[in-house]
Amino acid sequence: MPEGPGEGTAGSSAKRTTKKANSHDFVEGDCYAPAPENTDHVSLKRSYDLFIGGKWVRAPKKFETINPATEEVIAEVGEAGPKMVNRAVGAARDAYEKTWSKMPGRERGKYLYRLARLIQERSREFAVVETMDGGKPIRESRDIDLPLVAAHFFYYAGWADKLEYAFPGRKARPLGVAGQIIPWNFPLLMAAWKLAPALAAGNTVVLKPAETTPLTALLLAELIEEADFPPGVVNVITGAGRTGQNLVQHEGIDKVAFTGSTAVGKLIQKTLAGTGKRFTLELGGKAANIIFDDAPINQAVEGIVNGIFFNQGHVCCAGSRLFVQEGLVDTVVRKLKRRMESLVLGDPLDKNTDIGAINSPEQLTRIQGLVDSGREQGAKCWQSSQKIPGKGNWFKPTIFTDCAQSHRIVQEEVFGPVLAVQSFRTPEEALEKANNTPYGLSGGVWTDKGSKIFKITSQLRAGVLWANTFNKFDPSSPFGGYKESGMGREGGLHGLGAYVQLSGR
Ligand code: NAP
Ligand code: MG
Repeated sequence: MPEGPGEGTAGSSAKRTTKKANSHDFVEGDCYAPAPENTDHVSLKRSYDLFIGGKWVRAPKKFETINPATEEVIAEVGEAGPKMVNRAVGAARDAYEKTWSKMPGRERGKYLYRLARLIQERSREFAVVETMDGGKPIRESRDIDLPLVAAHFFYYAGWADKLEYAFPGRKARPLGVAGQIIPWNFPLLMAAWKLAPALAAGNTVVLKPAETTPLTALLLAELIEEADFPPGVVNVITGAGRTGQNLVQHEGIDKVAFTGSTAVGKLIQKTLAGTGKRFTLELGGKAANIIFDDAPINQAVEGIVNGIFFNQGHVCCAGSRLFVQEGLVDTVVRKLKRRMESLVLGDPLDKNTDIGAINSPEQLTRIQGLVDSGREQGAKCWQSSQKIPGKGNWFKPTIFTDCAQSHRIVQEEVFGPVLAVQSFRTPEEALEKANNTPYGLSGGVWTDKGSKIFKITSQLRAGVLWANTFNKFDPSSPFGGYKESGMGREGGLHGLGAYVQLSGR
């Protein structure tokens, strides 16, 4: 296969031209012609309240949500304190006891189907808002996040009237009120992963989105209103970590579903110890992507790029540790660098963009700190040469070679576009290095040999494994980790099981 910018699937087929800086000074010099997504169809309010008991309730305090690519304020949202958390849990309890848990499954399914269709109708608008609020490229929000969000609601809508067949010989009852806390990297998708199975099984919900990306959860609340869900079945309360803490500590919830960092996951587990509340924790990761010397190299390089630079590396299952079989290291690194140079970094609303904005200044500082530690500990750093826009939070695609197992960039989750490359000689060495991590969320293996795929994947200690591909998701497939990556599964029948109490018939 020929090498060069044309190999594999480039971010766009647009012709290279010279582009002037736009009003936000996103891109200068040699780049693709601009292809900005139209934002005229998006109408956001300047200020959002909390969605509690089917009504919009004013919070005494508000905070701003910012576009990380332009540093502009997009809107202000309510900050839910303990009183509002209490009110939301009360509304969810009422709805659980009076309507939702009593409703036949086929009726609950109708609401979920309606919501899924409304999401599809408004998906362009939701994709734009997701990109504005979080910084991810529009190509990803439009082609990956939004279709998967709708697919999740469709999938679990299908289970709502089939609970008696889902767990043969057992009776499935809902748990009650679920407190659900989600992160900023896939805001709407994480909301869908949490809401769809909980609602299908007959639970009611209080959802807290992340502080930096509250908007699509609030737009989803508007759709829930439009779909005419009974009041209180879904409550959306915005706020910071303290709001999440209040929700976890509330006596009126029966289940906590949390996606976020391992540090906060551990705190939540301590808080819940001895309370009898059910919980699922989807935490951090440090996935190994293992390339054998019989792998299709150009495909593998695309897989590496997709594994670590998708959503700027703000991905819990990102392939952030690359293991390359020894004879192939120079070739893979050379091809990888060339491919990294062809990535388009800049305006997340531009349809050519591959690398959008880092979600927040705090996250940028965390990434920078870990990259500095990599240099200080003796690994060799290489960054691609894209220009960084004048405003906003940005980080260039970065790889480290000459890494040791003990380096922080090998052991700790960077949650940014930073890849640590190591080599191995035998499958046994690859496995030993790959499993030498406190995490166990995901992993990838690239080889021409089916037998090697089985050998490696059966011994990699990770919950999600891909062979000759990476970062593929489907609502019917369970997702979750081992060790410090959490416990419990979301997606598929396993994900439904996390929201029901099973007993004999
Ligand atoms: P985070 O700081 O743990 O925050 C996650 C959510 O918890 C946010 O809504 C946050 O609110 C809230 N929160 C913070 N402190 C809390 C507390 N003491 N009690 C209850 N809730 C609290 O994580 P993040 O930095 O937003 O997200 C990145 C992490 O999520 C990464 O480690 C990533 O690997 C992980 N992640 C895992 C998965 C998975 O499925 N395994 C998926 C996506 C992300 P604020 O936003 O206001 O801080
Ligand atoms: Mg924001």
